[in-house]
Amino acid sequence: MQKSRLHLIATVVVTCTALTVAGCAAASIPADERAGARADRTTVSVGPPSGESAEVGGHTVSTADGYAADGAPISEIADTPAIANLDADLRHAVARATEAAAADGVEVRINSGWRSRAYQQALLDQGVEEHGSLEEARRWVNTPDRSTHVQGRAVDVGAIDAAVWMQEHGRQFGLCQSYENESWHYELATTAGGECPPMRRDSSAG
Ligand SMILES: [Zn+2]
Repeated sequence: MQKSRLHLIATVVVTCTALTVAGCAAASIPADERAGARADRTTVSVGPPSGESAEVGGHTVSTADGYAADGAPISEIADTPAIANLDADLRHAVARATEAAAADGVEVRINSGWRSRAYQQALLDQGVEEHGSLEEARRWVNTPDRSTHVQGRAVDVGAIDAAVWMQEHGRQFGLCQSYENESWHYELATTAGGECPPMRRDSSAG
């Protein structure tokens, strides 16, 4: 274990040395994000690569696909593709809801937002591995063609207390839970203060 970690560190050092001109931390970050990072250095995490890419369902996905290792309040990750590529009205509604939740002492973290088609397919492939069949996986993960995450129209919130807060207050901001089996998945599905449409049983239903 120790040996492999040392090897990882050594690899990082070599990679950083090779990328001195570009800057190690910025090497795997998209150009528009680098521009944002220059404007606000406090949003950049410097050090060994952590959370910028991962193996999901046999595919490598990165922040450019909307991948995020850890959820964070929307204000902290607004410039990442997972948030920046969301529908603007949804993004604003989630930001307002997050502020209101904070005033109630509840931190709403965004665990997932926009996803590339490749990332969605990776999640579906992972779901098939975990659940044993495409039919069962589809109850939890939609196809790239149907996923509202790919369309930039959905966010997954956490933790549990945030999901509970959203169930009670989300519709004040037009945010509605879409599926009975996913307490964390919210879409802008009504007007502020309006009635939410009936939930679907799970994601295989739509
Ligand atoms: Zn979702």
